[in-house]
Amino acid sequence: MAEVASDPTPLIRSGNGSGGGGSKSARPPLSDSLHVNSGDGAFSYTRNSYYQKLGADAVKGRIKGVITMKLDVEKLSSRSNIIRMADFGCAVGPNTFDTMQDILHFIKQKYSLQCPESDKTVEFLVFFNDQRSNDFNTLFTSLPRDTPYFAAGVPGSFHRRCFPESSIHFAHCSYALHWLSGVPEELLDRNSSAWNKGRIHYTNAPDEVVRAYAARFAKDMSDFLSARATEIVHGGMMVLIVPGIPNGMSYSQLATSAMYKHMASSFLDMAREGLVSEEEVDSFNLPIYTPSPEEMEAAVEKNGQFGIEILELTSNPDALADGRVDMEAWVSHVRAANEGMFVKHFGDDVIDEMFDRVTKKLFMFSEQVNSAYKDLTQLLVVLIRK
Ligand code: SAH
Repeated sequence: MAEVASDPTPLIRSGNGSGGGGSKSARPPLSDSLHVNSGDGAFSYTRNSYYQKLGADAVKGRIKGVITMKLDVEKLSSRSNIIRMADFGCAVGPNTFDTMQDILHFIKQKYSLQCPESDKTVEFLVFFNDQRSNDFNTLFTSLPRDTPYFAAGVPGSFHRRCFPESSIHFAHCSYALHWLSGVPEELLDRNSSAWNKGRIHYTNAPDEVVRAYAARFAKDMSDFLSARATEIVHGGMMVLIVPGIPNGMSYSQLATSAMYKHMASSFLDMAREGLVSEEEVDSFNLPIYTPSPEEMEAAVEKNGQFGIEILELTSNPDALADGRVDMEAWVSHVRAANEGMFVKHFGDDVIDEMFDRVTKKLFMFSEQVNSAYKDLTQLLVVLIRK
């Protein structure tokens, strides 16, 4: 029953690039040119995304529960018999297919509970959204054959409108909202107190740098929520799974902080050896931010169009085999998701070298990483459109 739309823009719409409440800047945002590693090679996202899958599995029961208790499927399907779902930042699978199928199943179960006597068939249309540079070919060639839904791709940044007004019943976004729409500009300004010399992230950085990142996240989240508030029908649901940090915890205590710290020191070592220039290192910053529940709640409250059903930190216990992080697998996961950000800036010649060095350094700090990994560092947010 699955059907892949040959036209990747399935709906007549004002366009993600210019219309629909988007940014006024003519320059395409950084996010338009970034994507996870495509294809199915050794460092592809397809083969290196099972940590994200384990994270999503850890909250599956919570999602099933909230759909059963709070989603009024009878009402949502009363007008047209069609439920429209969207996965924002779907990448290349297989995670997106598993998640969409699970959610569809929960929604169907809820419909049978609400309307046990009904003989009407509810049909599902699932939209897979990601940036336009995402490898949609790999995504759709690996789409399972017998999916119980119709499928279509929707390219474009989720920080802007992707769908017509009131057209989506269920929105999902996992491990994608921590990608910022760009690097805060002040980090590159030598005259600013937020100039981020010698670092590639806000790990171990002065407060000004952390604040610049936090402000960018708040703006991105505000854009994301206002676009979704327009697209999601009243009573529709949105599930967000984001890497998170407990309120008040210092970023340097997170496992990913060790990763970014050692990436920076590897690049600086390479600069001393003449493999990259110091200027290149100083002008590179990862557009990635890990929000706290407090920041997420503030963003939702400020938007005002969604009610919060769940907003909690969870752990990802199954990511630790025998209580330890598999360091090489972890580095490959980060590489599969973020390599493009490095290649765009440094070119692809030095990337193998940098990741080799990072892996070696991380082995020396494995105790720190193992213990940091046990923290509650996954944020689950479930919202209902008012
Ligand atoms: N949801 C999948 C993929 C996560 S990888 C999973 O859980 O496994 C993060 C994805 O988010 C990448 O494919 C990236 O291209 C996408 N992404 C990041 N910023 C985006 C944006 N502004 N608009 C659309 N997709 C975005």
